[in-house]
Amino acid sequence: KRNVLIIGAGGVAQVVAHKAAQNNDKLGDLHIASRTLAKAEAVIASVHEKSAMKVAGVFKAHALDAMDTAAVAALIRDIGVQIVINVGSPFVNMTVLDACIETGVAYMDTAIHEDPSKICEIPPWYGNYEWKKRDATKAAGVTAILGIGFDPGVVNVWARAAADMMDKVHSIDIVDINAGSHGKYFATNFDPEINFREFTGTVYSWQGGKWQENAMFEIGKTWDLPIVGPSKAYLSGHDEVHSLSANYPDADVRFWMGFGEHYINVFTVLKNLGLLSEQPVVTAEGLEVVPLKVVKAVLPDPATLAPGYTGKTLIADFVKGEKDGKPVEVMIYNSADHKEAYEEVGSQGISYTAGVPAVAAAILVAEGVWDVGQMVNVEELDPRPFINLLNTIGLPSYIKDDQGDRLLQYEI
Ligand code: NDP
Repeated sequence: KRNVLIIGAGGVAQVVAHKAAQNNDKLGDLHIASRTLAKAEAVIASVHEKSAMKVAGVFKAHALDAMDTAAVAALIRDIGVQIVINVGSPFVNMTVLDACIETGVAYMDTAIHEDPSKICEIPPWYGNYEWKKRDATKAAGVTAILGIGFDPGVVNVWARAAADMMDKVHSIDIVDINAGSHGKYFATNFDPEINFREFTGTVYSWQGGKWQENAMFEIGKTWDLPIVGPSKAYLSGHDEVHSLSANYPDADVRFWMGFGEHYINVFTVLKNLGLLSEQPVVTAEGLEVVPLKVVKAVLPDPATLAPGYTGKTLIADFVKGEKDGKPVEVMIYNSADHKEAYEEVGSQGISYTAGVPAVAAAILVAEGVWDVGQMVNVEELDPRPFINLLNTIGLPSYIKDDQGDRLLQYEI
C-alpha cells in the first residue's frame, strides 16, 4: 500500500507529517487535510523548512470537514491514497473510519472516538463506537489499527511483548510521567477540552476481573523510574485499559498519570467552580457561554508551548506474571526529550511520542507486515517488527528485568 492522507493539522499531525516525509520513500505521496487549510499548509511549510522529505515527492494540503463521511471518501478517491492516518480531534474518528471502509483503504488513529455531547463514556469505550464496525471492516478487508499513538499505542505493544515473555499475566500497570516544563503558569499539553475531559469523569480500572470505579486523584502511588527518578502518579482512566482488559481479562490493568501539585490545585479549583463544564450557562447580560470553551480560549494554545519546552517524558509498562511456575516482572520504557523533539520536528515531546508510532504503523502497513485486513487494537498485532522499527526512527524501547536494563530489540 502507498500514498498517505494525514487528517488534522494540530500538534500530533505536525509530527506525523515530518516523520512521514522522512520516510516518503516507503510511503509515497503525502497529503494533509484539515478544517483550516492554512494550518495544513503551515505544516507542509515546516516540513520543507527542515528539508524533511527523504526523496523528492508530493506533499499537498487540502481543506476538509472530517465530520462529513462523503467529503472524506471523495478526497480519498480524488487523491488516490491507500492509508489514512487520522490525527484530527477524537470527535471525527467514526466519520473517517466509515469513509475508509467505504473506499477500502487502511485506517489508523491515536485516540478513542468521543461524542462531543457526552462528558464520560461507560466502559469498554471501544465497544461504544469503533468495535461496532468490526464486521463491516472485516467484510471490506480494511486494515483498521485503533489507538496507535504512545498511550494508547506503544504501551499496548509493550504489554503484548511482555505478555509473550510469560505463561500468565497478573497485572499491567502503565505509568505516564511528563517531567518536562513549559514555563507557563498553567497550560495543557494538548487541546484543553480533550485533556480535561479525560480527568473530569469516573476513573475506570480493570481489577479482579471487573471494572473498579474511583475518583480522579483519589489513588496515588510513587513509582521508581529510570531517568526521571521516583515520580508520583495517579490512577486515571485511559483508552488502553479498555482494550487491554478485553484482551487480557485475567490481568489487572491500570493506568497511572503523573501530575504536579500545582496542576492538581488549578484543576480542582476550575472543576469545583464549574469552569470545566461543557453545559452552557447564561450570564446576567443574557449571553450563553460554555465554561469549558471559555477556559480553553484563555489558556495558552498548546502548539505555542513547544519552542520553550524543556525536560523529558518517561512512559513505562510494569508487567507482572508467571513463567515456568515462577513469578516474573518486567518494565519496558521510553524517554523522549522535549527540546530534541522541537529541534527535529517543531513539536513538543508529547506530540512527538504520539505521532511517531502512527508513522511506524503506516510503514508496516505499506510493507504488508501489519496489513491485516481487519480492525485490531494494537496488542493484537505482532509487536516485534514495530518495536524494532521504532528503535530506528526516534522512539527506542528499553527493557529492565532480572537480566538488567537494555535496548529491547528482536531478531526476526
Ligand atoms: P489538536 O487539537 O492540536 O489538532 C486537532 C486537529 O484536528 C486540528 O488541526 C483541527 O483543526 C482538526 N480538526 C478538528 N475537527 C475537524 C474536522 N471536523 N475536520 C477536519 N479537521 C478537524 O490535537 P492534537 O494534535 O494534540 O491531537 C490529535 C489527536 O491525537 C487527538 O485525537 C488526541 O486525542 C490524540 N493524541 C493521542 C496521544 C497518544 O499518545 N495516543 C497523545 C496526544 C494526542 P483546526 O486546527 O482547524 O481546529
